[in-house]
Amino acid sequence: MHAIAVGVMLACGAMGAQAADIAREAAKTGWATQNGGTQGGSAAATADVYTVSTAAQLRTALKASAGSGGRIIRISGVIDVSEGKPYTTTAEMKTRARLDVPAKTTIVGVGTNAEIRDGFFMIRANNVIMRNLTIENPWDPVPVWDPNDGSSGKWNSEIDGVTISGASNVWLDHMTFTDGRRTDDQAGSANGQLIQHHDGALDINKGANYITVSYSVFKQHEKNILIGSSDSASSTDAGKLKVTIHNTLFQDYSERGPRVRFGQVHTYNNYHTASRSYQYYRFSYAQGVGYESKILSEANVFDIQGVKSCIDIAKDFKGKVFRDNGSLLNGAPLSCSWNTAIGWTPPYTVNKLQASAVISDVLANAGAGKIQ
Ligand code: CA
Ligand code: CA
Repeated sequence: MHAIAVGVMLACGAMGAQAADIAREAAKTGWATQNGGTQGGSAAATADVYTVSTAAQLRTALKASAGSGGRIIRISGVIDVSEGKPYTTTAEMKTRARLDVPAKTTIVGVGTNAEIRDGFFMIRANNVIMRNLTIENPWDPVPVWDPNDGSSGKWNSEIDGVTISGASNVWLDHMTFTDGRRTDDQAGSANGQLIQHHDGALDINKGANYITVSYSVFKQHEKNILIGSSDSASSTDAGKLKVTIHNTLFQDYSERGPRVRFGQVHTYNNYHTASRSYQYYRFSYAQGVGYESKILSEANVFDIQGVKSCIDIAKDFKGKVFRDNGSLLNGAPLSCSWNTAIGWTPPYTVNKLQASAVISDVLANAGAGKIQ
């Protein structure tokens, strides 16, 4: 039934039996270890383990019923979710490109080149793990001009690479999110603004909770991680949106590293490298301190050409508090004037590196293709 899986198991066996199966691990760090922990489909029965290399196989594996241990889906190679038929409208893409992830699921890339193109994941069920997979951020075919966005108007698109909406206990590990083949320099401009076909890489909203993003990469993209989508969402988001982001690379990006509303968000040992002088992916800000947010930033490294002070590293979007311990901005200690009374401390063990050790660790280990 799952013929490819046998070949993969043989290949692993040939390399030695000691290597842990990355599909059989539970979350080990951050908020995803709380609330009973995040196991995904790590206890899946053999009959609930799939290896897929086409969009049709992936959909079948996502929709199949599974036993009490959940399911494991191994992604082999590059999967084109559009199946070679380009999307022509936003609405059509929202339907055809959508991949809903059921509860107790672990999705892992096989080897070093597993990638999802022209598709997006919607996680609305609890207890999901995604590892070792590249997501090419979706390319909305029809951007919409909003003359009231900002001082001079803006082109906006819909459709995010991964959305975690209302789900608890999600672990994203060794993921890479990138604009990939369709970088923003290719789309031209109109009305004096870049025609932006991309929206977010990772959106976390509607009361999602207990989430860890570890050893991942967000690169060549404008809007990266949004935690909380509305100031008026207190009925779903207050007391939730607890997210940890650590040992992750933010490279050549503009904003949302992350932008936060409501959540107790812990960012540590992340490496940000970007520039104010780029024509595309020009740096705007790193961490967005939004409404009711309570960010704890620790030992992060910000190497951002053209930025001199905390206001661009922890930018005020109607926030009141922000705390940083031991981060570096362009080689000097990050100094902020925010009220640091965030009102919480991590309830989990944190094994932090000193900021001086972050760059080498992140560059060596973060992103898809680094674990197998
Ligand atoms: Ca979005
Ligand atoms: Ca403020």
